[in-house]
Amino acid sequence: MKNVALIYPNKFKGGISCLAMHILHHHLNKYHDINCNMYFIENYNEIKNKDAIIITLQYENDYFNVVKIIAELRQKNPNAVFIGGGPCAIANPLPLSSFFDAFVIGEIEDTDIMYKLIHKKTDLDGVYYPKLDGTDREDFRKIKRIYPKKITIDDYPINQFTHPSGAYGDAFLLEIGRGCPRRCKFCMAKNIYYPPRFRKLDDLKYLVDEGLKHTKTNKIALISPSVGDYKYIIDLCQHIKEKNENISISPSSLRADTIKDELLKILNLKTLTIAPEAGSERLREYIKKDISNDDILNAVEIAKNNNIDKVKLYYMVGLPTETEEDIEEIINLSKDIKKDFRKVEISVNPFIPKPHSEFENEPFNLESKNSIKYIEKSLKKSNVKVNYENFNSMIIQCVLCRGGAELGDLIEIENYNKPVQFLKYLKKNSMLSDYLTKK
Ligand code: SF4
Repeated sequence: MKNVALIYPNKFKGGISCLAMHILHHHLNKYHDINCNMYFIENYNEIKNKDAIIITLQYENDYFNVVKIIAELRQKNPNAVFIGGGPCAIANPLPLSSFFDAFVIGEIEDTDIMYKLIHKKTDLDGVYYPKLDGTDREDFRKIKRIYPKKITIDDYPINQFTHPSGAYGDAFLLEIGRGCPRRCKFCMAKNIYYPPRFRKLDDLKYLVDEGLKHTKTNKIALISPSVGDYKYIIDLCQHIKEKNENISISPSSLRADTIKDELLKILNLKTLTIAPEAGSERLREYIKKDISNDDILNAVEIAKNNNIDKVKLYYMVGLPTETEEDIEEIINLSKDIKKDFRKVEISVNPFIPKPHSEFENEPFNLESKNSIKYIEKSLKKSNVKVNYENFNSMIIQCVLCRGGAELGDLIEIENYNKPVQFLKYLKKNSMLSDYLTKK
């Protein structure tokens, strides 16, 4: 029997809503000789004498936790193989290359990759072994990403452990598709999960029926990069409502141009959330967001007619070719929408040039911080709430997503679990601008 710890390197609240955790947990426990348990930042220190430790890398800002977790667990689990996976591993695992034995570059369904890695196999396709393959960018690039051509229900977790404190509440997580048919130039997800694959309607109906039998909940979260792009979204929602009228359905994201009256009626949302990303139509066209002003105004009109009284809008600043006018348009669009809604909240964050996106070689714009402050100030009187992430975390995210193996040593030696120190070190040693400008 192999004992495996599956770790989400942050709080339980985020981890329990992470579908990858449920998929892996279900996938591995199907093997009779594997016993896999989930752990989070709150309880990973209970892990000892395991045969394998798998850490899902969903966000670069978790790397500080990851390094700390591995340092502690290497001693308590001397025979364990340490495996990394998830979107950050697919995109660029180099900053963590000296801490793991292997990274899975892709999606594990329909394969025995994880099983074989737990049994310490060292010649698998779709796996990057930094100690064997080298830690240069070119070494990593040789690894071909693996993914199932079709996503089926074989590996789907029907019996999900849910909790009200989860990011989607205690919802059953229903993944309707993976990858995205759209073409936004800033988007990494569409490339690392290419090609777009939606599940069959019959499969999804089966998952709803079985999921609701085994998972105690009255909520279903629809997971996909762009839920409204699913051709049978209305049929699926109708099926859920026919099962139980009181089940609430929450989509992870909706594009403004997929919002239809029929969809909002059946979803019965309290809040409309859309991501214009840029304020002006010109910039949206440039970044290939493919959403017009009319699409946005049409979406909010439909929301108003469906008694939705709160709108959340997601924007980015510092995008390539951005001008002052584009910033003004964020303010104007938000103000216009506020006229018709009781509550409007906007989230404004700096554009981060991500690897595997068309903008991967663009610079990170430090001026974005001032733009965010300016937008906040300008919207104060209009009663539009402006939310934003900690700016230093965004800078760190940029550095880690495009940096190399040298960063791992800095996280470990200089700044053990201290992102602020890490950033200070990069600044003091004049290293920061290279990462931000991708020299
Ligand atoms: S940003 Fe969203 S809509 Fe655009 S390509 Fe990425 S996942 Fe698709």
